[in-house]
Amino acid sequence: MNDRSFIERCPACNSTELERHVIVHHMICAYVGPEYDFGRNSERKHCPKCMRGLVARGEDWEVVGTSVLCGQCGSERILPP
Ligand SMILES: [Zn+2]
Ligand SMILES: [Zn+2]
Repeated sequence: MNDRSFIERCPACNSTELERHVIVHHMICAYVGPEYDFGRNSERKHCPKCMRGLVARGEDWEVVGTSVLCGQCGSERILPP
């Protein structure tokens, strides 16, 4: 399949209102959660579990996947990064 015009749809309700969030793994405490859990302020992100600030990607945190959330029915899927 090479169709670049493909529009991703929710498998549950067929909606195209999909929201994507990066899933972050905090290696120091093993917390895994969506990027917004680490704070919406992009300058000073911190872990909601251990409250430590994030330092550098690949050093103390990494991206483990992308969460695709349907804005219509609320179903969520996790895709590999
Ligand atoms: Zn942490
Ligand atoms: Zn849906």
